Amino acid sequence: MGTIQALRGTRDILPEEVPYWQQVETVAKEILTQAAYNEIRPPMLEQTALFERGIGEATDVVSKEMYTFYDRAERRCTLRPEGTAGVVRSYIEHGLHSQGVQRLWYTGPMFRYERPQAGRQRQFHQIGVELIGSGSPLADVETIALATDILETLGLKHLSLELNSVGSAEDRQQYRTALMEYLTPYKDDLDADSRDRLTRNPLRILDSKDEQTQAILQDAPRLLDYLGPDSQRHFEQVQQQLTTLGIDYTLNPTLVRGLDYYTHTAFEIQSADLGAQATVCGGGRYDGLVAQLGGQETPAMGWAIGMERLILLLQKLKATPQPRLDFYMVSGGERAPTQALKLAQQLRHQGFRVELDVSGSRFQKQFKRADRHGAIACLILGDTEADQGTVNLKWMATQQQSVWQQSELLAQAEYLHQQILQATSN
Ligand code: ATP
Ligand code: MG
Repeated sequence: MGTIQALRGTRDILPEEVPYWQQVETVAKEILTQAAYNEIRPPMLEQTALFERGIGEATDVVSKEMYTFYDRAERRCTLRPEGTAGVVRSYIEHGLHSQGVQRLWYTGPMFRYERPQAGRQRQFHQIGVELIGSGSPLADVETIALATDILETLGLKHLSLELNSVGSAEDRQQYRTALMEYLTPYKDDLDADSRDRLTRNPLRILDSKDEQTQAILQDAPRLLDYLGPDSQRHFEQVQQQLTTLGIDYTLNPTLVRGLDYYTHTAFEIQSADLGAQATVCGGGRYDGLVAQLGGQETPAMGWAIGMERLILLLQKLKATPQPRLDFYMVSGGERAPTQALKLAQQLRHQGFRVELDVSGSRFQKQFKRADRHGAIACLILGDTEADQGTVNLKWMATQQQSVWQQSELLAQAEYLHQQILQATSN
């Protein structure tokens, strides 16, 4: 019988990689908590209509990337392709607006049916924030600063912040018309995707990678020229405040994000070290979404970091911070293994990391394993020790051994912690 493998576009995050994920989660949680953001955990499964209405039917995500199916009661369900729509649904459903401005963050898997490649999967993970209830440029800059803070604290280099404004819904409507008028005569010269987008979602043509399409776009009307005075002022303030915080940015007038609900500020943080999938973080303002999903008119701002891409960068940067193994518990005989089990448990309660050998193999084999697992010391128990309530302590680096009363070992936890620290700093 053949073996069963993980689905295409999904992958196992194996134990040796997990410490990177934990490091990212720890840093993000700390920085977001300091800025008074609270974690929210919406379900991964939502009604399909949420994304159709929230993200927009003309977007790539909704038109071709969603995992949608009927459940047993014929409900149309979708595995979330992104986090914002679900957070906003939850915000409306629970009347969170009555508690003032909401600063929320989330993390977890997202699902998109895409062509898998490095940094692009069908199940991938994001950490994201949503600041709901403020239209101030301060909100834009606070959230952007949090993203750069997280990435810099993790030690990432060669990042660039690309910034644009896509204006208000009205600005965009006018621009859309102008762009369509400009592009229509060139229709046959556009790449197939762009031709398809011309009537459905013309703004997305701006970030086509096709050379001929880009050449045509050279003389196209510019989105920035269509910003109304309020949009312009908002955009200028965002830039001033970024400068005040010492955050460098590059204006990118062709930056338009894939989801329909964005207004005003749009940004991406890209890495020069990621090849084709360069965007680590994407986000922007989405003043229309809450109302679009049935809530009151509410401005909002958010972003999402792609975890897989971030982890790829971290892996290039440094070795995995594997957790240290303090004691490897070696035992053999009739009575000793049970005592070893108990002693291991007691030492764990004292804050040590202890691995218990459960193989039943000969001492020599157990020692070899202790070495391979990088233990700092071995604790050795045979029936003689068990009967006397003692244990043999052997430091791996020096091979030094000493016999201890088990009770004394537990009483000297502080001393042992210090010895272990010394052994690791050598
Ligand atoms: P891209 O242009 O790379 O497809 P996107 O605009 O579709 O990105 P967003 O919806 O803005 O992406 O999601 C935010 C971030 O989530 C992206 O910048 C990226 O880091 C990550 N991301 C998006 N789709 C995937 C995927 N299929 N696999 C891995 N990471 C992804
Ligand atoms: Mg995409």
